[in-house]
Amino acid sequence: MHLSDATWTDADDVDTDLALLPVGSTEQHGPHAPLGTDWLNAEAVADAGAAAYDGEVVVAPPISVGVSEEHRQFTGTLWVSEDTFRRYVRETVASLAHHGWNRVVIVNGHGGNVAALREVAGTITRHDEAYAVPFTWFEAVGDHRSDMGHAGPLETAFLRHTRPDLVREDEIEAAREGASDGWGEWVSYTNLAYDSAEFTENGVVGDPTDGDEERGEELLELATQSLVKLLSAVESRDVSRPDRE
Ligand SMILES: [Zn+2]
Repeated sequence: MHLSDATWTDADDVDTDLALLPVGSTEQHGPHAPLGTDWLNAEAVADAGAAAYDGEVVVAPPISVGVSEEHRQFTGTLWVSEDTFRRYVRETVASLAHHGWNRVVIVNGHGGNVAALREVAGTITRHDEAYAVPFTWFEAVGDHRSDMGHAGPLETAFLRHTRPDLVREDEIEAAREGASDGWGEWVSYTNLAYDSAEFTENGVVGDPTDGDEERGEELLELATQSLVKLLSAVESRDVSRPDRE
């Protein structure tokens, strides 16, 4: 059940403790893909996971602005601080838990959110009335993972499958030409760059022409399988804290 489409009476009828909270960002994704790519993809994975799961799962509306200051030179990018983001996620999870949906998988679509999500999910689990764990879809797609980039093969393929109406096919060539090969500027295993504009001319990392619709279908399938497996583990897990006192 997707909360945004349900009435409160529908929500009242749901008997489950499982919820999915999609989170992403609103940030540049090159000249060919929409600013909403990260939250759109997270929501698509959450919806597919809820549909494929054998049991009821509540899907919360997406948190669509995340930790994205690294893209600020590109118009339209929005961001909040890690503190604000963590707090927003924590309070949103608390309100899910208030209704009894207290086992929450946070479905993430943005690399810049990963560290903050892991931290806040740990805080929620240790100190609040809920268990939470973050799941980043592009880390859960097997060997494809190494091709992630930014607005590169994976995200372009995914959108070509789920939202082809939003991909500017006539910009794909330009996207490829202005792209960089890898994320960051590395010296001695240290990334010297803080903003993506330091190493990519048009915001793209990786070759978006390597991401056709078929690959996108496979990515959605792999991410969905991973999420379903995770939901099952979260549903059956003993989430009480170990007692060693
Ligand atoms: Zn992205």
